[in-house]
Amino acid sequence: MTELWRLTLVEAGQGLRKKEFSALELVEACLERLKATEPLVDACLTVLEEPARRRAAELDAAGWDPQKPLWGLPLTLKDVFCLSGAPTTAGSRILEGWKPPYEATVVKRLKQAGAIIVAKTNCDEFAMGSSTEFSAFKPTKNPWNLQRVPGGSSGGAAASVAARQTPGAFGTDTGGSIRQPAALCGCVGLKPTYGRVSRYGIVAYGSSFDQAGPLARSAADCALLLAATAGPDGLDSTASLHPVDDYVGAAEKKPGELTLGLPRELWEGDFAPETGQTLDEAKRRLTAAGVKLKELSLPSLRFSVAAYYVLASAEASTNLARYDGVRYGRRAPGPEDLRDLYVRSRTEGLGPEVRRRILLGTFVLSSGYYDAYFRKAAQVRRLIQQDWQAALQRCDLLLAPVSSVQAWPLGAFIDDPLTTYQLDMMTLPLNLAGGPGLSLPAGLGADGLPVGVQLLGRAFDEAALLAAGRTLERLLPPVGEPPLAA
Ligand code: GLN
Repeated sequence: MTELWRLTLVEAGQGLRKKEFSALELVEACLERLKATEPLVDACLTVLEEPARRRAAELDAAGWDPQKPLWGLPLTLKDVFCLSGAPTTAGSRILEGWKPPYEATVVKRLKQAGAIIVAKTNCDEFAMGSSTEFSAFKPTKNPWNLQRVPGGSSGGAAASVAARQTPGAFGTDTGGSIRQPAALCGCVGLKPTYGRVSRYGIVAYGSSFDQAGPLARSAADCALLLAATAGPDGLDSTASLHPVDDYVGAAEKKPGELTLGLPRELWEGDFAPETGQTLDEAKRRLTAAGVKLKELSLPSLRFSVAAYYVLASAEASTNLARYDGVRYGRRAPGPEDLRDLYVRSRTEGLGPEVRRRILLGTFVLSSGYYDAYFRKAAQVRRLIQQDWQAALQRCDLLLAPVSSVQAWPLGAFIDDPLTTYQLDMMTLPLNLAGGPGLSLPAGLGADGLPVGVQLLGRAFDEAALLAAGRTLERLLPPVGEPPLAA
């Protein structure tokens, strides 16, 4: 029997159904792999070893259930999802030791579908960052090269899936945090349309952008996880009432004709040589297989980085106001007075990147600057939405790179926030437009590091994205397994 930790979600699901192995055997295999690889990659903040075993044993005792599409499948959660009774830190000291008394809707639905939560994964503090180095606890390493970052902010999720700790994970994408780490670690990552998956019980960063979604090793696996979690939620008024499609069926569809629009603004500019070569080869393969590639222009995309960092920081500054040591969050001991309590609780509890965003967000919202920055950025967001809709009338889906560089050395940009923000250029437009995106491996660069491409679609048409994703998976070179000496 192959090592069970190597199986994808679909493969593991089939094996469980046919009783080739039990849920407990699968969980044990994943836990063993996790323990062997974790000292190398540092992907997890909490491992839920005993609860996972108990749940697997319960499922085995009750027997395989056709009503539960994720029956017995081990998953991880980015540490921004509230899982009742388990620590939820959002990568921040200010939430250290907090155990939520309630559960995120995503978590509730995953459990109802029969999934087993094995660990909470590392992330940049409050999901602000692109490398997971801004976690208050530890940096996660890229399984393809342990001296490199895994991307972020869901870097723990991507590193965990790439290291084969579990076959699937849930993360969040506010400005690329599912798609970019997926690309840098050679996994598949799906950012659903804003509102497709409930935000209830997810620690907030930028509420008008935040969206939860799966990371796994194939489009079909992402479809399975989306199907179990998508849909309206009485606990989140921004969870859309739009009907949920048959995502699993879509990901199994026979490939049809495909015309992909290439936004010039995302394909021009400076690429690292290995990234550029891998992307050129990917385009050659797609064209040779009959996929039509059509260059388009969306001029407003040039303003994505500026608009996003104004809007997301503004939302972050209001969302994080609640962590003051009184209403929420760790309280500094022995305060002199009330002011000292607030100042020290926040200074001790929040890291440098989060503080930078709070300052920036408070500035752009302050009277006198609101019109010049916040309102302007909101207008740019509208322009991007209009350009986006117009572009998607001329093709089936858009195709773009995910990152202009491959995983960079740990520490390389830690003191250079502007460069890091600019590296988000290719993922941010989708969040400003609001639609769904699927990041797929496009092959390995000459340096042995994964390169990704993303398919970008119309709001609520995840089905089209997953069907096309399946086609691209067949045409692009597989990246395989990272050479981890576990
Ligand atoms: N890197 C972006 C940021 O720091 C996106 C993060 C995210 O999607 N959560 O805001």
